Formats: sequence, structure tokens, C-alpha cells
Amino acid sequence: MHPQRVQVIKNPPRDRSKFEYLVGSFSVTIESISYLHIGSSQYATLLKEENIIELLKKQGLTEEAIRSVVFEERFLSFHTTASLPSIPASSVKGNIRSRIELSFKAKEGKVRSCFIRATRLLLPSAVGMHGWRHHRIWGDVVLENRDQACDFTVNRQVCLVCDLLGTNGLQGLIRFSDFVGDGVRLERLSLEYGMDVLAAPPNSRFKGFIDFLNLKPEEMGLLFVGMGLRNSARGKDVLLGRFKYRSQMKNYKLGRVVYQIEKLRVSEFSKPIEIDGISLKPGQTLEGEALSNLVNMFVTNAMHYYEGELNIKDEVSAVEKL
Ligand SMILES: [Zn+2]
Repeated sequence: MHPQRVQVIKNPPRDRSKFEYLVGSFSVTIESISYLHIGSSQYATLLKEENIIELLKKQGLTEEAIRSVVFEERFLSFHTTASLPSIPASSVKGNIRSRIELSFKAKEGKVRSCFIRATRLLLPSAVGMHGWRHHRIWGDVVLENRDQACDFTVNRQVCLVCDLLGTNGLQGLIRFSDFVGDGVRLERLSLEYGMDVLAAPPNSRFKGFIDFLNLKPEEMGLLFVGMGLRNSARGKDVLLGRFKYRSQMKNYKLGRVVYQIEKLRVSEFSKPIEIDGISLKPGQTLEGEALSNLVNMFVTNAMHYYEGELNIKDEVSAVEKL
């Protein structure tokens, strides 16, 4: 398949100054089921490390030589919040956002999401070429030409995902806290090319919050899909952090996590909702089986509402097969 131009559906964002639809907060745990590395480097760069390596390889340098010269930080530390290991809000949001962007596909030439966070490929890529793992995992959706990403400062119309998660000049309806490690003991791993990283071991737990404002039921379902949830409050294995697209680095697997919603608090300002026998009332709290039933119902609702538009992949098994 070759890149095809598709039209991104854009509308004025909904009113942020009043409460409509669902308003509330989730307590969420992200649990690592492999080693997990979340980088702490704050440097701004437009070039990705793999692109730099690719470029220099063309000049005849070996990957080992490039790493020893170009990347002077040989020991990669883990992100912290108040000196505890943590996953920053921006990484959690980016992870969920790119999964939602890639979960939408064009139907009759139209698609509900631009690409802000997810990488779009200009050409189909063969094994070993730039982006081949990304292409293998997500399929031809990465070739969709969705044109310029939404920018509210330029155009007052945005796609659904920008309305939900924000873009330049527009705050999102879904907001994230940092996810802080709960008793996480980092380990030092020696990976390929003499690269040492600090990583959280399997079964490490990071806790945080996801707040939401004015979400419709099918959009709540979409948020759950972005977290890898299907029919229960505990999700399927998904990829997060560095080295996630490698099936293995030396003897280690990295970047597999599970999202689990521990609790839902419906705000006093929320509108009540009643669908398929489940009701949500302002001020209500939900946990356990009732919460799992709610996730199942909202995801099913989203699958119906966006029928033929969702491209849901099992990314972890796709990586294992690379
Ligand atoms: Zn957009």
C-alpha cells in the first residue's frame, strides 16, 4: 500500500467554560510486566537517536563507534518526581495519545484524528529501514497522509483527539498527573553497545490520576482503548518507554506495562448518565467489578459508535513476532 491522502474531520472544540456530559477522576496504576526505562534527559532535540545513528552509519561508522562518540551520557538515569522514580504526565499522555491516533483509521477517506504524537511514515518500509518496526506493529494506518496536525492558534477547528487531549493553544479535556513509583527499586542493566540504564524491574507499580471534563460515553471508551483496556479495569499488555519496539535487548525485555484503573470518582458537577443498565450519578465512586463492567460497557459503546473506524492492535504480541 502507498501513502494515501485522507481528510481529517475538524470542528470547533466544545465549550470549556461549562460542565456537560461526564466529569470526574480516575486513580490509575501503571504496572511494569518487564523492565521499564523512562528517560530523564530534558534536552530538546528534533532528531531522534535512531535517526542520528542511521545517518552516521551511512558514513561508514559502526553503531558502537557512534554511540561511544555521539552519546556521551553512557549511563541513562530514570525520570524522577520529588526524588522518587516516576513516569512524567507528558509520557503517559503521549503514550495514550499515540495509541488513540493510531487506533483511528480512515473510513471513506475521512479520519477523526490528526497525527501529533504518532509517527507517520512517508513510504512503506522494509525490514531494517527507518520505521519498519512501527509499520509492522501498527499496519498501513501509519502511511495515512493526514496533512498538517491541528493548531488552534492557526485554525479554530480541531480533530476529535485534539479536542480531547489538546493541541497548541487549546487545553485538553483529559489531564494527567505524574505517575510516581510506589516502593520501586531501580536496577542497573548493561545493554548492548556498552549502554547502561537504570530500569524499574517487572512488577513495579506507578500511581497517578487522570482527570476528565465533559466526556461523552463513547469518548470515555476511546480513552480506555488508549490505555489498552478492553473488558475490565485491568488492561492488556501495552508498550511504554524506551526500547519498547525491541523484542529483546541483550537478555532483557523492556517497555511492557499494564494500565489498571483502581477507582472512578464522578464529580458533583457531572451530568448523570444511564446506558445499558449502568448508571453514573454525580458524586458516585466506583471500584472493583462495577468498574470493570463500566469499562466493558464504554469500550463496547465506542466500538459501535466508531464502527469501521478503529484499528485496534495487540502491540505486544506484534513486537514479539518481529
Ligand atoms: Zn488534531
